[in-house]
Parts: sequence; C-alpha cells; structure tokens
Amino acid sequence: MSEFLELEAQDGIRMTWNVIPGTKQDAANCVVPVSAIYTPLKPNPAIPVLPYGPLRCRMCRSILNPFSIVDYVAKIWVCPFCFQRNHFPQHYSISESNLPAELFPQYTTVEYMSTAETGPVVPPVFLFVVDTCMIEEEIGYLKSALAQAIELLPD
Ligand SMILES: [Zn+2]
Repeated sequence: MSEFLELEAQDGIRMTWNVIPGTKQDAANCVVPVSAIYTPLKPNPAIPVLPYGPLRCRMCRSILNPFSIVDYVAKIWVCPFCFQRNHFPQHYSISESNLPAELFPQYTTVEYMSTAETGPVVPPVFLFVVDTCMIEEEIGYLKSALAQAIELLPD
C-alpha cells in the first residue's frame, strides 16, 4: 500500500494496479479496467528536466516512458498505450546499461526542454473532466462554476 501512496506523492497519479499492460494479451487479460486519477499541476520541485525533446509514438503520439517495453537488440520500443513498435532514432545509443533518462524507473514524470526539432512551444492546454452524474440543481451550479473558471483562463 505504501508503494501506491509513494507513487501518488511523486507523480500525482493513482492507478488501479500501478501497471499498464505491456501487450495486447495482457490488456485483454485484465479483469479490472486500466484507469488513472491524475492531479495536474501537483507541486514537485524535483522533476527532472531533460535537455532534449520527447520521443513520440508514431501511431498515437504518446511519449517514451518507463512503462514502455524495450528491445535493446532491435533498438525498438513498444508503446504501452497502442502497442505500436517504434524505432529509436540513430542518435539514441541505447543498451540495458545505457538507458535514456525517460526510461529510468524513477523518472515517471519528467519535463523536456523545447528544441528546434520538437517544434514551437505551444500554449498550455486546460482540460476539464467533469462527472455529470448529479442532480439537476447541482448541474446548474457546475455550469456556473465552469463558466467562471473559463473566464479566468488566458487567451
Ligand atoms: Zn502509441
């Protein structure tokens, strides 16, 4: 149990099993659905900043992370979200003893420096996930609160 709490304190995320299935078969065998509760903007002064851009899955655009399965011989990583096999770029000199930082098990949350190759810096995205399973009166309050929150957002 303490492992779950430690991971939540580190990343602001709580998952059903703290594991993402590594293969389609593993995903199909899951009795409990994979889910996560994420606390965005959780203060964490110790987040490592990587001096290069993220390596993205060519299918779903997710980012290389410690949950990815890596084939060190073929220099391929498998996306844990869509199971797409992706090649590492030529400049990644990767082996089991020489991992890029984003594969370190303790680096589940990292920041990347924006570079010319990663493209221009995009403005922040604000995402509201709203549970609408409530009585109609509360929906009205919710609409009002969301409208006020949207007015506070920058252009
Ligand atoms: Zn993917």
